[in-house]
Amino acid sequence: MEEEVKSGDLCACGHLEDPHLLIATNHPLDGGYRLCPEQDCECIGTWSVQGGPRPEPLEEWEKPLMREYLLNRLEEQSAPRTEDSG
Ligand SMILES: [Zn+2]
Ligand SMILES: [Zn+2]
Repeated sequence: MEEEVKSGDLCACGHLEDPHLLIATNHPLDGGYRLCPEQDCECIGTWSVQGGPRPEPLEEWEKPLMREYLLNRLEEQSAPRTEDSG
């Protein structure tokens, strides 16, 4: 029996493509970073819209830092606001 692997469904990191996070750097049309939501995974890449700009590929040492930065940013965005301005 051969192992059945649905090509395209798995990322190179071994996790499913589907829950990978797409995070725009500035504007979605400028592309951004794509990272695996698994805590222990260091998978991070770049994405762009068709024909659009793409962020610089990350150096190996930059990847954990960028993951941390982007995940923190996501948390900030999804966290409920405790401060009222006004
Ligand atoms: Zn991945
Ligand atoms: Zn992964």
